[in-house]
Amino acid sequence: MADNPLVTAARPDDSLRPGGRRNGRALNPFAGFRDAISDEEASNPAVVAELQRRFRHTILFATLGTIPTAICIGALMWFVSPGPGVLAWVAASLTTLGLWLWALRLPVDLGWLRLAIAIQVYGGIVWGSLPVVAMPGDERWQLFMAAFGMGVQASSVLFAAQIRRLFYSFHVPNLVLSLAGFVLYSDGVGRWGAALLAYAGIFAAGLSEIHHLTALSASTYSVRASRLAMGLTAKSQALTEANRQLAAQASTDPLTALANRFDFDRRLGAALASGPDAASGPDAVVAVAMIDLDRFKAINDSLGHRVGDLLLVAVGERLRHRLEPGEVLARFGGDELVVLSPDCDGGTGAIDLGRRLATAFDEPFIIEDRRLAVGASIGVADSSSASEAGDLLRFADAALYRGKRQGGNRVEVFDAELDRALRERRLLEGELAAALGDGQLVPFLQPFVDVETGAIVGAEALARWIHPDGVRSAASFIEVVEDLRLVDELTDRLLDALTEARLLSPAIRRLPISINVGPDHLDGLIDRYEGTGVLSGLQLEITEQARFVESVTAVNRLIARAHANGATVLLDDFGVGFSSLARAARLAVDGYKLDRLFVAELSTCPDARAVLAGVAVIAERQGRELIAEGVESLDQTRILAEFGVRTVQGFVYSPALPLTELGELVARGHRFTASFGRAVPEAS
Ligand code: C2E
Ligand code: CA
Ligand code: CA
Repeated sequence: MADNPLVTAARPDDSLRPGGRRNGRALNPFAGFRDAISDEEASNPAVVAELQRRFRHTILFATLGTIPTAICIGALMWFVSPGPGVLAWVAASLTTLGLWLWALRLPVDLGWLRLAIAIQVYGGIVWGSLPVVAMPGDERWQLFMAAFGMGVQASSVLFAAQIRRLFYSFHVPNLVLSLAGFVLYSDGVGRWGAALLAYAGIFAAGLSEIHHLTALSASTYSVRASRLAMGLTAKSQALTEANRQLAAQASTDPLTALANRFDFDRRLGAALASGPDAASGPDAVVAVAMIDLDRFKAINDSLGHRVGDLLLVAVGERLRHRLEPGEVLARFGGDELVVLSPDCDGGTGAIDLGRRLATAFDEPFIIEDRRLAVGASIGVADSSSASEAGDLLRFADAALYRGKRQGGNRVEVFDAELDRALRERRLLEGELAAALGDGQLVPFLQPFVDVETGAIVGAEALARWIHPDGVRSAASFIEVVEDLRLVDELTDRLLDALTEARLLSPAIRRLPISINVGPDHLDGLIDRYEGTGVLSGLQLEITEQARFVESVTAVNRLIARAHANGATVLLDDFGVGFSSLARAARLAVDGYKLDRLFVAELSTCPDARAVLAGVAVIAERQGRELIAEGVESLDQTRILAEFGVRTVQGFVYSPALPLTELGELVARGHRFTASFGRAVPEAS
């Protein structure tokens, strides 16, 4: 709206209203300018300065233009009829000029506008009194005066280009007085003059209005253009600032203000593309160090996330002080910190970098008055072993995990051994995914044996890889299957094979069969097989993990759904890891499987026997089954039986067997009396 001159011109001149305030806001002193200035712009000092400059120029030009006119007229009047009236008039008209020159030095504001109007009214009276002062009764002279008055009227239109009120405050008294002079002091021809003058006055007013409404003077355009330019500059500055902030956010980690993964990847890519500084020697390398705090999760869990966050900030700060110029420290998330050293010695640079960063953990951290001795594992890799950013990070990560496996708080550098392990691992991943598709992963069954009768009372399905080099046990590949997120697919394939075997063999059909279900896969398994009948008669061996501790009720809901589908649930690996008696008792499982590590201790450790006694009593009281796995000697069986364990599983009886083989044993009614005496059919 403000850009439409027809609309803005119609706006009332608020600036001239006494008080000059509307809605409590100071009124815009430029509201009367023909090119209406918004309140916002009126508060912009740059716009105000520009307008005042233009305004002064216009008035100065118009005013200075009247000096020769006033002097010529004064001289003429003096020539026709000299007298004090003429001198007084010349003095008065020059006073107008003086007043303007004084006024133009003052700041243009609301008060100034009132002063300007007063000067204009004064000027109008002075020029309007001309016919009265100088009316000598000569008709030609009167006509000349009328023509001259017309010129004055027209020139006053100039003011309209700036402020309309200034035009009218001159024009109205000037016209009224001139007309009155002609009417009162002249006859015939003088009245023609009055008519001419009236016509000129109305014409000038009309011209002023048209000018005001439609004609956009050059000054208007340039004011508008500069206004626009100033607005654009402000907007583009705001935009640049917003962009800068966005970029900063996109490249920094909000917690530690270190670089984030995105920014790190960008810099690492650039460092690898340009290579190390040639001046650093021909074997200089780009190195990456990965830092992972030992036991960070435990600190977070026991002391709270606030302490965890503060610790991360403090660690970031210490590491930052160990950087050399050009090095970049980033946080990838969690407690994973990474350093890029773009220009590192090819010989000992990597290990030196790791050791330098490790000194950050020499002293304990003080977080909220707590002393936290925190160790870190650091893995370093350099561009002598990898030219791709992704490989470099993976290699540093592999070195880091070797450090973790070796107990943490140490620096490891990626080397040939790790390289070999990684290559083997990648090979294994590819092979394994293909093997799953080709049906090379099958279930074997390891029998559960009744300690008294030696009869087969059940079996555990264990995944086996029928590899061209030999049968591989689950321990050699199950972790990789999990990493590849293929566990569900593996379970589905094993269940397919088991279902088929149960259909074909009545012996297997009669047998309760256990399958292993990781804690993260239990709900998925039940979702997939709910109502299909596949789970009926199966035992689900679940391991208790940290997640279970959080919500026993959630796990019990899943167990109830398993029950509803005809399956029972056993708590696997009991006696090691996360399982505790107190928590286990609250889970609605149907039995416990004593882990083989626990069983192994029975023969040697009296404490293990005491624990077993307690567990057996609890299981008995709860009416839950107690199964021992990993039984490798009849001595162990004897001890287990002594404490009331009825079911055992282990190499002393049989390893896991192909389905048909176990089916035959069951069909024959085989009873184990002693060690089955077979070699373990596993290649690795
Ligand atoms: P687990 O559930 O504790 O299974 C028992 C492991 O002990 C099996 O190893 C078995 O071959 C081995 N074992 C049996 N008797 C003896 C013994 O007398 N002495 C010793 N030292 N070991 C014995 P396996 O088959 O290599 O499986 C390793 C782990 O892989 C299993 O531990 C289980 O957690 C997992 N796993 C095996 N099959 C599957 C599967 O189909 N799905 C899932 N999710 N996990 C599986
Ligand atoms: Ca198991
Ligand atoms: Ca186990």
